[in-house]
Amino acid sequence: MAARARILALTEDSGRQAQPTLQRILKEALKLVVVGVDLNPTRIRIEPLPENDRALHAIHANQWKAHPPTRDTVILLSAIAARLLEPGGFVVFHFDTDRVWSKRESSENRQKFEAIIRNGVRRVLQGEGAPPVNPRARPSLTAAQVEAALNRLLILSPCYSIESWLYQATNELHPLCQGRHASQKHAQLIAEWATDRTRLDEVHQPKDVMEECVADHHNETLSSSFPAEDVWLAERSFHESVERLRACTALVEALAHPVT
Ligand SMILES: [Zn+2]
Repeated sequence: MAARARILALTEDSGRQAQPTLQRILKEALKLVVVGVDLNPTRIRIEPLPENDRALHAIHANQWKAHPPTRDTVILLSAIAARLLEPGGFVVFHFDTDRVWSKRESSENRQKFEAIIRNGVRRVLQGEGAPPVNPRARPSLTAAQVEAALNRLLILSPCYSIESWLYQATNELHPLCQGRHASQKHAQLIAEWATDRTRLDEVHQPKDVMEECVADHHNETLSSSFPAEDVWLAERSFHESVERLRACTALVEALAHPVT
């Protein structure tokens, strides 16, 4: 059976837990986009870049934010463009906003993503820049086709960082924290985060707040208990990212396609 969607999942976080964490969060987001969606991996494929792919170097270690783009970023832009042109091809790119929700408009990362990544992919789709390996393999696209492909480049952009979402798994977070230290201060904070799910989006550098105990050591575990619907209802950065996915008609159609 052919896959209805092939989603290239990219995260700027490196490390063993980063990709499974992103995939888990993305799946929870997709379940909110289309209620009852069948995420059978033969139909909805969510894939990382191959290990050792040079494009990975560009995503990790902040290289993708460099202007002009590095050689590795140029490879990344081509990889993204290639996926967007495939039938059922989508790209989901996670980067941290590095700002709290109320300061998100000043996020350099968001600005750099649009200026360097989205515009860079646009140039590749328009056939500008380095010549392709096989020029005949690339059909020339109309302006409308270029924009339609770019609409399939989607972002997950948490405020402040991915931990702002993961720490919402307060039932898991509390024992992980208190197992490391009997911090009343942290217990109080976690209780506040559980009571009001808008709060974590306003915490500056949450990973540093929990540096002595949880930090980013348990991201994959926390992602398994992410209370997606509650966090979506809080209408902060997770909601914003889910609604961006929902605005992609091609994605909604791929997810909602009835099983035949
Ligand atoms: Zn703690």
